[in-house]
Amino acid sequence: MPTIRVLPDALVNRIAAGEVVERPASVVKELVENSLDAGAQRIEVELAVGGRSLVRVTDDGCGMDLDDALLALERHATSKIGTSSDLDHIATLGFRGEALPSIAAVSRFMLLTAEDPAQGGIRVTVEGGSILATEASARARGTTVEVRDLFFNVPARRKFLRAPQTELRHAQESLWGAALARPDVAFVLRHGARALIDAPVVADVADRIKDLWRRFDRVIRFQSAGAGGEVRGMLAPGGGHGRPNLTLLVNGRAVRDRLLVGAVMRVLRSAGSGFGGARVIVDLRLPPETVDVNVHPAKTEVRFRQANAAFGAVQRAVRKTIVVPGRLVNVVAD
Ligand code: ADP
Ligand code: MG
Repeated sequence: MPTIRVLPDALVNRIAAGEVVERPASVVKELVENSLDAGAQRIEVELAVGGRSLVRVTDDGCGMDLDDALLALERHATSKIGTSSDLDHIATLGFRGEALPSIAAVSRFMLLTAEDPAQGGIRVTVEGGSILATEASARARGTTVEVRDLFFNVPARRKFLRAPQTELRHAQESLWGAALARPDVAFVLRHGARALIDAPVVADVADRIKDLWRRFDRVIRFQSAGAGGEVRGMLAPGGGHGRPNLTLLVNGRAVRDRLLVGAVMRVLRSAGSGFGGARVIVDLRLPPETVDVNVHPAKTEVRFRQANAAFGAVQRAVRKTIVVPGRLVNVVAD
């Protein structure tokens, strides 16, 4: 047996990046989550070449001072939890303290942030995990993170990136999740000179749906509350073909859950046609201590303490409120 050794941080960060950063869309997701946790009211995402050459996220959140800006790049450094009991009721999107160091380990990275513009801002430049420069730089309150040439130093991963158009679609989808969860925040997505999303602050998620996908002019709402949690949902009939596209939000976090998605799809199918190309949003709210969000490094999955109850609540909401066999009810025309 060779000698056992503790790996250096740079290598550990690269290993973590393997789990946290799959593609440009993961970078968009992590950075936007940070902006939301920082209390941003407006988040701008700019991509070049589908995010392969550039992902830039700019926010007007709380920003960081010099010490925090440097700490943020350390592994397992977070302002969001402090004790192991915090882990049982997480109220922020982030908590692992892994995203920034992981992303910085596999890109040419720049963090520009200011907490109090009167004190000035700070710019930290990192390449492949090594800090190249830390300098004063003016900025309004908030944070900009720039991620260039993702996986430039991990050719094996770079090879797995898809065509820019495909990466762009994933990145856009990842932003849709956040934008649907937070209609009270403005989101912009630009790809080169094209504005793909320009979603101002709105009072109701139904308006957000229309800003994200202009072709939907009608939104059906559904809701139910019970032991399994509170479910609020929206269905925008597509009047088209193909599978309905479902966004599942659990306590404000867009997640994947085959069981829940399957449950909704089954109900829609059993109701007959009329849902081709529909957009469905299921917003499930439960007491935080009944949902474990610490399941997956990319936080794209959760585990329910009472999975059956959650499943039942979602299925009931969809079945009772939207669908009377074969026809749509409860149509809100706006
Ligand atoms: P986590 O989000 O799990 O705490 P990250 O690596 O994503 O871990 O971020 C580390 C820390 O950096 C966060 O806890 C937060 O304090 C700070 N931070 C990151 N992004 C921003 C931002 N956009 N605005 C303000 N603070 C930020
Ligand atoms: Mg984070």
